Amino acid sequence: MKSERQQYLDAMGIQVWQAKDAGGECSVNVNTESGSVDQSDWDVLEQQAMHCTLCDLCKTRTHVVFGVGNKQSDLLIIGEAPGANEDKQGEPFVGRAGMLLNAMLNAIGLKRSDIYIANILKCRPPQNRDPLPHEIESCTSYLQQQISLIQPKLIVAVGRIAAQYLLNTKDSMGKLRGNVYHYGEQSIPLLVTYHPAYLLRSPREKSKSYRDLLHMQTMIRN
Ligand code: URA
Repeated sequence: MKSERQQYLDAMGIQVWQAKDAGGECSVNVNTESGSVDQSDWDVLEQQAMHCTLCDLCKTRTHVVFGVGNKQSDLLIIGEAPGANEDKQGEPFVGRAGMLLNAMLNAIGLKRSDIYIANILKCRPPQNRDPLPHEIESCTSYLQQQISLIQPKLIVAVGRIAAQYLLNTKDSMGKLRGNVYHYGEQSIPLLVTYHPAYLLRSPREKSKSYRDLLHMQTMIRN
């Protein structure tokens, strides 16, 4: 019988190849140093986002997609913007790309509920076009405050748009992947990996993304 991990690797479409130290589960810590989560700060922030009219995306959204998960997690995943499914349900990464993201996390022993997931933009750009600079600028304060409240030990930027924004660069994914960056005043370690929607279109890159996952796993463990 296949192990749970193997089933997830299968779901990712990754044929078995295994790094020597890749076995075992990965657990993600909960940030106890920062004490209990200040729920009221989260509530205020979420309410502000829910009623946000700072850019025109408020006119076309169905739901604001604020973020989801464990607010005390050591791991924060940041994507680009909600798509159609996310806009409908009000939760990030719930469509096909979201299923693959779950499988990717599961491949290194993490559950979606262990971590926090947010996007750069909280509202869906029409037809899933790339976010416009002024939309990112309007929305950025929500993400900045989420990062300050969570104080993650590792940020993972999924996809080019999130990576280029967070690292303030125009470098390609090929250049950005595989390095450890440091984000913001607190120098939070940051890794870059492929967006699961890209992996659905380019399944051959899944083995590279698995390498990124193993890198994540090592960094979370240390
Ligand atoms: N793509 C993203 O970047 N974020 C989502 O929430 C869904 C798809």
